[in-house]
Amino acid sequence: MIERLCIIGVGLIGGSLARALREAGACQEVVGAGRNTGNLQTAVGLGVIDRYDTDLAQAVSGADMVVVCVPLGAMEGVFSAIKGQLAEHVVLTDVGSAKGSVIEAAQRVFGSVPEFFVPGHPIAGTEQSGVEASFSGLYKDRRVILTPLPETDAHATDRVRDLWEAAGARVTDMDPIHHDAILAATSHLPHVLAYALVDSLSRLDDSDELFEYAAGGFRDFTRIASSDPVMWRDICLGNGDAIQLMIEHFIRDLQGLNHAVQDRDGQQLLKIFTSAKAARDRFMEKQ
Ligand code: NAP
Repeated sequence: MIERLCIIGVGLIGGSLARALREAGACQEVVGAGRNTGNLQTAVGLGVIDRYDTDLAQAVSGADMVVVCVPLGAMEGVFSAIKGQLAEHVVLTDVGSAKGSVIEAAQRVFGSVPEFFVPGHPIAGTEQSGVEASFSGLYKDRRVILTPLPETDAHATDRVRDLWEAAGARVTDMDPIHHDAILAATSHLPHVLAYALVDSLSRLDDSDELFEYAAGGFRDFTRIASSDPVMWRDICLGNGDAIQLMIEHFIRDLQGLNHAVQDRDGQQLLKIFTSAKAARDRFMEKQ
């Protein structure tokens, strides 16, 4: 049982976590924090948080669990604002989509990564943002990856694992560099490709007509290009090395596909599409 949970950044991810934990009866009080009073009032109105404070130092006061749910680029500022203000028995965690950059930010602010800080990442989300889009079932049967460091207190890691399990998630531990490489391939590259495709098509002369005739395939492929641009800018900056490797790998394979089209090489096209279909079918079977 968490006595006072502080969620910094009450949006889709933070709001959904608060809702799930309240529904599970896993916390007594939820304090929200952020910059925007209107958003935090909405969160109180929706019953997501009990109260809020826009002063982050005040918001974390007396909290035994603090979860930082802001965009990656805002993590360091949040750590600076709460440094020295945390209760002695606190556990601090985050939900950032890349882990190396958050760990480096914690190192810069605290001097070394505090033993009570457990970096984390829920592999769940939608293309929507904000507390209005939050819902309690977001983490049900979804994976959460924790990337504790050798110096992380094992008890703090256990408490963060318990928090996510109470929200319905399945929790795995992973090395942060490995996490960033895997997510670059499975999440960050697909988002970059969706944004790039829509941007490229939208700059063609006849883009209005193109979009008028776009159907289900276009909708499926590009849904995630409706995600928050600030969040995805920050992810590309925060996990730049791993994302760059994946983009370069993809460009090489796309060039191969382009050659097959240029050469009208039906055999090669069929080979690529058959192999891709088999891989996706295997992935879907496991869902
Ligand atoms: P969101 O819905 O936009 O919520 C982010 C919240 O952070 C906003 O409510 C905003 O509230 C607050 N915020 C922004 N800058 C801040 C700052 N400088 N100081 C304090 N609060 C600040 O975004 P989200 O989708 O929940 O994403 C939050 C985090 O979760 C990101 O780090 C993202 O990488 C990670 N994540 C997202 C997904 C996904 O699919 N969306 C999945 C997994 C992980 P105010 O305007 O009131 O400040």
